[in-house]
Amino acid sequence: MAGIYIHIPFCRKACHYCDFHFSTGLGAMEDMGLAICKELYQRKNFLANTPVSTIYFGGGTPSLLPKSILHSILDTVNNHFLVEKNVEISFEANPDDITKERLIEWMDTGINRLSIGIQSFQEADLAWMNRAHTADQSFQSINWVNEVGFTNYSIDLIYGSPALTDSAWEENLAFVVQHNIKHLSAYALTVEPRTALAKQIQQQKIADVDPDKQAKHFAILCAWANNHNYSHYEISNLAKEGYRSNHNANYWKGLPYLGVGPSAHSFDGKNRGWNISNNALYIQALKNNQNIYEEEKLTDTQRANEYIMTSIRTIEGLDLTHIQDLLGEAAISMILRSANKAIHNGLLQKEHNILTLTQAGKFLADGIAADLFL
Ligand code: SF4
Repeated sequence: MAGIYIHIPFCRKACHYCDFHFSTGLGAMEDMGLAICKELYQRKNFLANTPVSTIYFGGGTPSLLPKSILHSILDTVNNHFLVEKNVEISFEANPDDITKERLIEWMDTGINRLSIGIQSFQEADLAWMNRAHTADQSFQSINWVNEVGFTNYSIDLIYGSPALTDSAWEENLAFVVQHNIKHLSAYALTVEPRTALAKQIQQQKIADVDPDKQAKHFAILCAWANNHNYSHYEISNLAKEGYRSNHNANYWKGLPYLGVGPSAHSFDGKNRGWNISNNALYIQALKNNQNIYEEEKLTDTQRANEYIMTSIRTIEGLDLTHIQDLLGEAAISMILRSANKAIHNGLLQKEHNILTLTQAGKFLADGIAADLFL
């Protein structure tokens, strides 16, 4: 099994916290569509005929794509890759782009999973983040998604922002239950360098992120998941039975994927690659048949560390036999030595050959994973 990721690098407005690759100049959309199709064609052998079980449109804002470009991209994928019949096709959409007509269009193309960038249902929080939509648009878009008949959809929420009170976070989560939303991606607000948010904090125009508040919001999230029967299957992802994201789960399992579009990353099982992060250069290079892609061969140790980083965040945990297959028995002893302190402190637990985070360890996942690196 393999996946295809398609990066659509355009946004209507720059959210203050965002460090993804995108441009707010929408003029190059047509050229970008052609360039992405050309890249798909040029790299049609990248997955070596491995069946494609997931396709993911991310960004940026895929919901800005005109229908004709969306069709061209999907036709190119279907014509040049071995796409499974029951492929999961996920599509990121922002509430301000969602109308009933567009939802029907998307459904007609074969898109069968939406990921809606809600981020918050609180007006003040949305304004603080500089989102392009209002809370009313979020509610309206969810109603339309249900009316049109998308059953498999997710929403994104951000917690721990200075503008979000504890009770407002609880209210956001309550809306998820009230609207019977089956999948939630919940992220702690992070201050990435070179974002407007980092600059505002540095200039003391706004308060910095409070780690205690983030830990509290994460604890509220964990309790909410337990109370409402959501499986917290990855640190930032929660789902009702049968509604997990296959695309993301395949990343965590280390399956190969092809990423197309500016800044997209790819992995063929051994090599990791990335595309140029510049829209104009990407389009130009593809027009001129020039290279847009760099790659590095991962050592077995790098592959093991990537596996540690992703697997420890999942409910299935880190399977030590996988590390043994890559690096031999000695690597397991090293990991277990490193894991001792976290196990002793009740942050990590070991059952047979599997290491998983405890509830207390989940919020510290990245630090615990770094301690286990080989
Ligand atoms: S819409 Fe998404 S990708 Fe675009 S700026 Fe906002 S968070 Fe970033």
